[in-house]
Amino acid sequence: MNLNHIPRCDIVIEQSTASLHLVVSGCFTIEGCGQLTDILQSNLLVQTASEVLIDLREVEHLEPVALAALELHLLQHDSSESSLRVGVETPDFPMSCEEAASGPLSEV
Ligand SMILES: [Zn+2]
Repeated sequence: MNLNHIPRCDIVIEQSTASLHLVVSGCFTIEGCGQLTDILQSNLLVQTASEVLIDLREVEHLEPVALAALELHLLQHDSSESSLRVGVETPDFPMSCEEAASGPLSEV
């Protein structure tokens, strides 16, 4: 089975007045989730924004475990004293790498 994708994700930070969009594309795996949580923790733009929207709708693959890890991170973040609000947009039909490798599921 030829896996014709690169298991990495790109994160583009788009800034508007008080909110930031983190637009993720590519392959959102547990490693990519680590990049994202690193940005959330260390990026000054994120720290000073009042609202952050994580947009996962552009990703090619979305590993359920990576999404779970991200949500766990956000839950922990939530319980801190931060006033930052973080939202996550997920694709309607996330496809993991395994599913992508085993052929298109769209032709039902
Ligand atoms: Zn993938």
